[in-house]
Amino acid sequence: MLTSGWKAVSMVDVHGKVTFTLWLCGCNLKCPFCHNWRIAERRGCFELPRDAMLEELSSHSFLIDYFHVTGGEPLMQWRELKGLLEDVKPLADVSLNTNLTIVRPLEELLRFDLVDHIATDIKAPPQELYGLPKNASEKLWGIFLRGLEVISEYDLPLELRIPVPKKFDVLPWIEEALRHVNTNFYVVLNPLVGKPLTNPRDDHWCSQHCWPDEEEVSKIENRLKSLGIKVFINRWVTE
Ligand code: SF4
Repeated sequence: MLTSGWKAVSMVDVHGKVTFTLWLCGCNLKCPFCHNWRIAERRGCFELPRDAMLEELSSHSFLIDYFHVTGGEPLMQWRELKGLLEDVKPLADVSLNTNLTIVRPLEELLRFDLVDHIATDIKAPPQELYGLPKNASEKLWGIFLRGLEVISEYDLPLELRIPVPKKFDVLPWIEEALRHVNTNFYVVLNPLVGKPLTNPRDDHWCSQHCWPDEEEVSKIENRLKSLGIKVFINRWVTE
């Protein structure tokens, strides 16, 4: 399977947890704010040296809460990922970061009890944040909502991340998504950052919609807190 590498001990990939993080290449979305677009486009990727990685995981497993798989979109390589997780599970609990638009393969991993924690984003409005044509984005949003229900059916703990763009009314989308969540979750708000701090896929889009105002972030934070949801704000996310 194609990877861009791994990090044996990371404190920044899952809120409040220590992870062994593996980045897998390829993605079905084209988010304009994406800072991992080279991984998403498989640039600089290489075949995972599976035995070497498992050996390193084994020697670090006492230090970590999760083996965290991210990307890119890990479920693009779900068959290979399934085989890898079968070898990982005896060593560590598994956390999967997915855009939640490839749901049948996800169900396959869950059915085999290969995932213990999920992280996903509410990318809203999807017509803007998915970076795809309107029809495709709306269809994928429907699949995303179904994905939230699947995670709830399996009662998996969920880190619900919300990239906060500038100048879009995202609350109706967030509230729609939350109606499909019925599992233990918290929210991490990620105000979108652009240049000079990061190198997003689409500079022009980011010049219009990155760096939201404080009030835009607070509005979402306050609404979520009024619903009794635990909210964290991450000021310098560079996904
Ligand atoms: S932000 Fe995530 S889902 Fe979007 S293109 Fe980048 S890797 Fe894919």
